[in-house]
Amino acid sequence: MNSIELAGIGMTSQRTRERLIQRLIDQGISSQPVLDVIRMTPRHIFLDEALSHRAYEDTALPIGFSQTLSQPYIVARMTEILLSGGRLKNVLEIGTGSGYQTTILSQLVEQVSTVERIEPLLRKAKERFRKLGLKNITAELSDGSFGWDKHAPYDGIITTAAPQTVPEELFRQMAPGGILVIPVGNGVSQDLRVLRRVSDSAEFDEEIVEKVKFVPLLGGLSR
Ligand code: SAH
Repeated sequence: MNSIELAGIGMTSQRTRERLIQRLIDQGISSQPVLDVIRMTPRHIFLDEALSHRAYEDTALPIGFSQTLSQPYIVARMTEILLSGGRLKNVLEIGTGSGYQTTILSQLVEQVSTVERIEPLLRKAKERFRKLGLKNITAELSDGSFGWDKHAPYDGIITTAAPQTVPEELFRQMAPGGILVIPVGNGVSQDLRVLRRVSDSAEFDEEIVEKVKFVPLLGGLSR
């Protein structure tokens, strides 16, 4: 992939991207680092060519295997919340999908671990990380219902697929003061929940942010 392709010149004008950023601001996204990273990250390379012309619309788009690339507003909102407690060193993402959310995170935190249960999606996402030259991402084929013990504890965990209840393991893998951003609910709609671990106790503060619609968190692997 050459730099012109990465910049999206010829595919999307700078104006199209600015329009998306303005829309995010209008919807209440106020973190300048988050807005800057979204502005600079080419979203079209996370989509199949047939859909790439829609990459800068504020909408979720299909990535195959019945999965979706999240809406930019949701990516921005979840990232902004995750970063609200200050700089993060070690973040876990559950549900790599296209790798777009991972790519946004990797530019804002020190280290990102990400797990995906569908092998072909993971393979494509890893290829994108390589082409973009992102070196602070570790990605693995695994069932994120169990978190990812290897790199725990995390000071931030973000889940981009919705479980019915918060998996126990995620609580265990949180560092003291850590933050978990997770959609919880059934297939129709979910609550976006934010849980903060109170210092080094087993207690969590919980806040419900808004209604969201994510694909379900499923068990097992798919090759
Ligand atoms: N963050 C992604 C969103 C993809 S949709 C992006 O920016 O493109 C959510 C993803 O979660 C899907 O790819 C789905 O396969 C994955 N997923 C669902 N259940 C999972 C589980 N138990 N472990 C890991 N990944 C899971």
